[in-house]
Amino acid sequence: PLPVLAIVGRPNVGKSTLVNRLIGRREAVVEDVPGVTRDRVAYAAEWSGRGFMVQDTGGWEPDAVGLQKAVARQAETAMAEADAILLVVDATVGATATDEAFARILRRSKTPVLLVANKVDSSRVEADAAALWSLGLGEPHTVSAIHGRRTGDLLDLILDTL
Ligand code: GDP
Ligand code: MG
Repeated sequence: PLPVLAIVGRPNVGKSTLVNRLIGRREAVVEDVPGVTRDRVAYAAEWSGRGFMVQDTGGWEPDAVGLQKAVARQAETAMAEADAILLVVDATVGATATDEAFARILRRSKTPVLLVANKVDSSRVEADAAALWSLGLGEPHTVSAIHGRRTGDLLDLILDTL
């Protein structure tokens, strides 16, 4: 079976946009409204001749399920099922309480975790992304999923990690 990369993070940080960028197709649904990805969906990806699966562990309904519970469930499922995890954060917003809740769980992960600072559309935002070191998950790897900025570097890193 192909190795599995799980994408986790709070709604609206750009997880589905990043999934589409990583798989090179527009299959994951991107929405301006948070919580659109209803279920976990896995997509086949290939980079440098190596295949892997990308799982868009998407949205939740914060009204129906407690937010903390949903964060824990998403993170723990990823730790149990994936070979590597990307925690996606919005660099233009910085670390929110929900991002910190994800980080708190993922810091204990035996599965490797890469911290991705998304929405770094220009070099100006690079400096803001440095604040995300505070999440305790190592270097924030900056990308712009929407423009493809540095996503090739991220794919190289993913292959080194899987
Ligand atoms: P998800 O809820 O985490 O899956 O986020 P989506 O992929 O659905 O994206 C949420 C919103 O953020 C959409 O309006 C996207 O177009 C936007 N977005 C995603 N990636 C980027 C990015 O790199 N830069 C900017 N400026 N916007 C982005
Ligand atoms: Mg989504």
